[in-house]
Amino acid sequence: MADFRTRLFPGSARLIELADRVNTLQVEALCWCGERATHNARTINGVMVTEGEQVVVGDTNTQNEVAYEVLCRRHHMRRVTAKKSGAAHQSPEPLPFN
Ligand SMILES: [Zn+2]
Repeated sequence: MADFRTRLFPGSARLIELADRVNTLQVEALCWCGERATHNARTINGVMVTEGEQVVVGDTNTQNEVAYEVLCRRHHMRRVTAKKSGAAHQSPEPLPFN
């Protein structure tokens, strides 16, 4: 029993530690607009991509910068990343969504 307990306790402590970190991240994660971020977006050069749009792997000349960004539900649906938002504000063209 003692062996079981000593093995169980470090594992439980680790789980609690991880849970605390997750909670902290969820509290602090904000979309660029200030809304609470609830979605993860994968971006390539600041442009959000979905699961079906994969970067070609193995191209060593690629300059694609793959990153992850947290967005609120609205901007995740509209695929408006922080970079895209900045570009849209500076562009004379209308916003790319209705
Ligand atoms: Zn947002």
